[in-house]
Amino acid sequence: MNDVLPLHVRDLTVRFAGLTALDGIGFTVEPGTVHAVIGPNGAGKSTTFNVLSGVYRATSGTVHLGETELTGLPPHRIAALGVARTFQNLALPPRTTVADSLLLGRHRLTRAGFVAAGLRLPAAVREERAHRERVREIAEFVGIADQLDTATGALPYGAQKLAELARALCMEPKVLLLDEPVAGMTADERRRTAAVIAGVRDSLGISIVLVEHDMGVVMRLADEVTVLDFGKRIAGGPPATVQNDPAVIQAYLGA
Ligand code: ADP
Ligand code: MG
Repeated sequence: MNDVLPLHVRDLTVRFAGLTALDGIGFTVEPGTVHAVIGPNGAGKSTTFNVLSGVYRATSGTVHLGETELTGLPPHRIAALGVARTFQNLALPPRTTVADSLLLGRHRLTRAGFVAAGLRLPAAVREERAHRERVREIAEFVGIADQLDTATGALPYGAQKLAELARALCMEPKVLLLDEPVAGMTADERRRTAAVIAGVRDSLGISIVLVEHDMGVVMRLADEVTVLDFGKRIAGGPPATVQNDPAVIQAYLGA
């Protein structure tokens, strides 16, 4: 298992010209748990993700991975520290095989370096073989091992989303940010993906942040839920508690 670390979000505020997208929100994601961030459109879910991954800068507040402060670091530094994300829309190059796309996901872990790899030095060759083996393991875990030699663009939509999840796992992350992982999937693909995410949590012990519209998936997978509305945290706790919270019901029905 990876070294795992909790993710702490404290008093996070993000303002865009005249608009407060996040207003002092906070939550902790413990290793080996799924923390769902939900809320109506415009609530601040994507903004939260964009701050956690370094795409947006916080106006105030902090994000820590264990003791390490992530606030203000650029996206590649945050990724190198072990925070991996998937995207709401497909992000893998369509003509590259699944195997090669996943190998790219392992670049931050490559020690021998590109020059050594290009020269086919023995250490680099050994390292590449080890990476390919790990890629196969992860593909098996996610259930796409049969498609490793297929171009990602030729896969069915659900398998492409799973390949995207596998790419993030190839970074051996400590934290996994999942942006609507089951959006656009069939019921069958949703079940399969939810089982994979539960497997990641239970066997790898990674801290998972989940933004998802499918309430069935949220309620089944989440250990903790943070509910946002207009940038404010309006409720939080275990799914069963949050589901019956009058403020949450009100926010979803629209006042
Ligand atoms: P959600 O993902 O929950 O639907 P967002 O985080 O995308 O909500 O948006 C929260 C609020 O912040 C919205 O009012 C949105 O218009 C605004 N917002 C998000 N990103 C930007 C940006 N880059 N510039 C200006 N306003 C933004
Ligand atoms: Mg969004």
